[in-house]
Amino acid sequence: MKIATVLRNDDFSREVCRMLREKLHARPDNLYRFVDSRNDRPDLVVSIGGDGTLLEAVHQYGFEPTYVGIHTGHLGFYADWRPEELDEFISALEQPHPFIAEYPTVQCRIHTSDGQTHHKWALNELVIRNASLSTLVACVYINGEEFETFRGDGLIVSSPSGSTAYNKAVNGAIVHPSIEAIQLSEIASINNQAYRTINSSLVLPKHHEVELIVMNPEIMIGLDREQAVWSRVRSITCRVGGDKVKFARYKRLPFWGRVRNSFIKD
Ligand code: NAD
Repeated sequence: MKIATVLRNDDFSREVCRMLREKLHARPDNLYRFVDSRNDRPDLVVSIGGDGTLLEAVHQYGFEPTYVGIHTGHLGFYADWRPEELDEFISALEQPHPFIAEYPTVQCRIHTSDGQTHHKWALNELVIRNASLSTLVACVYINGEEFETFRGDGLIVSSPSGSTAYNKAVNGAIVHPSIEAIQLSEIASINNQAYRTINSSLVLPKHHEVELIVMNPEIMIGLDREQAVWSRVRSITCRVGGDKVKFARYKRLPFWGRVRNSFIKD
């Protein structure tokens, strides 16, 4: 089995990684080989850090490998293992057919006024905000039909697994990852006599498409951890991605248990 690791940049994560490598190398069967690049096509990517590290790993290695997370800070949403469970984790790796949870993504096409289309995706969410502190103005179309004009701080299009992240902080719904859907949520919309939005999160099924026609000359676009200022964005279309991210669940931790552990009680 080819294993790659992605670490948070701290001493403890580096130490956990060193111990993992040492323990796997010490095995007599030579079953595991560590690799460092996407070209080496790892079977398993182990993220050691927090949810942000896992997001980084997924963007670095793409849809081919399976992912598993060891959390070295407070309990993460994506990571299943604690550093003190390393021996148990190594035994679990021997399971020939672990349960694989497949999480849908958000597929985005960013159209700029020079006619270019930029293909992007997110495991958690796409976020758009105005590049300055003034209001973001965007016309929202659903499946080609005009829906509303949004004015406010920003819009989030989240995946089901991303629904517990930024989306949750703006009171979006939590969506089980077996539901192939995207969710459009508002960040501080202006609602008064002059301007009106639906002011609720919308959950769109697979094959539905939301298009955000951007009126601001410059906007900030966030895709999971990555964020950048974009000029002359004409529109952004989002739908459920064709590819899913695969997580190896060597131990049983159902989604709702994960939600409870993260937000109510560990
Ligand atoms: P970060 O260090 O700012 O951490 C944000 C928090 O979000 C962390 O506690 C992390 O554990 C948690 N998180 C990330 N993905 C999650 C998920 N799917 N479900 C539940 N919690 C999750 O940033 P980071 O670690 O680089 O993570 C990037 C993510 O931060 C973005 O994808 C976005 O969802 C989230 N974020 C949240 C807010 C907010 O809640 N107001 C604001 C900005 C970004």
